[in-house]
Amino acid sequence: MQSLASQRCYNHAVREAVARCPECKQFFCRECITEHDDRVVCAACLARITRKPPGQRSAFVKILWFAQCLLGLLIAWYFFFLYGEHLLKLPNSFHEGTLWQVNWINQQ
Ligand SMILES: [Zn+2]
Ligand SMILES: [Zn+2]
Repeated sequence: MQSLASQRCYNHAVREAVARCPECKQFFCRECITEHDDRVVCAACLARITRKPPGQRSAFVKILWFAQCLLGLLIAWYFFFLYGEHLLKLPNSFHEGTLWQVNWINQQ
């Protein structure tokens, strides 16, 4: 790991870094770093931490998740249905196990 003194700010290449953000592991200058909950984080991470999704949006996400599950089940059921239909179309001789016997006898 390189020392803090030789590091430059992630946003300002000419400025010396004074701290390292524990969230994104990048080095930042005095201007870019800020204190939050007794620890120093960069402005980008602070915005990410403090941003809380509104209740309406989380409800929407829940609905979306439920819809995706439902869609997945429908697709699975549809393919299962197609597979069943395919099985029904098979000739009866296949199920009776005589199909291979006929070929075997003809080869003799
Ligand atoms: Zn950060
Ligand atoms: Zn900076």
